[in-house]
Amino acid sequence: MTEILEPREVPLGGLRAMTVRRTLPQRQRSLIGAWCFLDHYGPDRVDETGGMLVAPHPHIGLQTVSWLFGGTIEHRDSAGNHALVKPGELNLMTAGRGISHSEISTDDTTELHGVQLWVALPAAYRDTEPAFRHYAPPVVHGQGWDAQVFLGSMLGSESPVETFSPLVAAELILDGGTSLTPDTQTPFEHGVLVDFGLVRVNGEEVKQHQLAYVAPGEALEIEAADLSHVLVIGGRPLGEEIVMWWNFVGRDHDEVVQAREDWMAQITDNFGTIRDSSQIYDGRFGIVSGDHLPPIPAPAMPNARLKPRA
Ligand code: MN
Repeated sequence: MTEILEPREVPLGGLRAMTVRRTLPQRQRSLIGAWCFLDHYGPDRVDETGGMLVAPHPHIGLQTVSWLFGGTIEHRDSAGNHALVKPGELNLMTAGRGISHSEISTDDTTELHGVQLWVALPAAYRDTEPAFRHYAPPVVHGQGWDAQVFLGSMLGSESPVETFSPLVAAELILDGGTSLTPDTQTPFEHGVLVDFGLVRVNGEEVKQHQLAYVAPGEALEIEAADLSHVLVIGGRPLGEEIVMWWNFVGRDHDEVVQAREDWMAQITDNFGTIRDSSQIYDGRFGIVSGDHLPPIPAPAMPNARLKPRA
């Protein structure tokens, strides 16, 4: 049974508001494997949207995966990494116990198109050291398809980037009339996001911008009626309950409250005013050097306690 998850439009925030299509998490689905977040955007003309201007903000308990189809984003983080995120190249940031970063599309970017995903770290690894990895996977070909496998193993291509739970992620271009049954691993569950084209997943029609969910252990068959561009994600079900709030993945309400307080303590002065980016205090989330945007304050906590979700 293929479940169709609809995107919802969310302003990304920051100084100007570029809009993304969010397909994870959803009320009915929090996770696909350890994948807990999927934002899809563009192709957007940067002169209309203002591009990506995400000032320094914190993360815990997750990895961010940036994968672009078009444009370039400059990444800076508090672990001292500075990278240009380009189409067809994986940039994976491990937040672990705490990191902060900024993401800004470069001046020469006219069109921005891609995805950002988050991976929840299993409990045993969620306090791991912050880290950053870059990997440009080869393009592999088959009958009527091209693929880049950037995490895990699929279609005869294996990513050397280590993950903390079994995962897979690949970008696929399918010619019209192609039917592909990727070699999935058991008991993975999968998601297929349609960037463009006319696609059926296990016989179910998946429209542009929708995310199809395929349950653990089910075979995955992707048929393209027309030239189609899709993203495939998958993984072993995490089997843990998580609390997701703002940029944090934790296990309970109090842990998220603590992370929020730690971040606000770094970026506000004694009067509660947000400090300049050059003046934020060092602490759990470190300092993003070379950035000029003011850091992003956390929103207020909701009145109700956050509930863990599986
Ligand atoms: Mn981020």
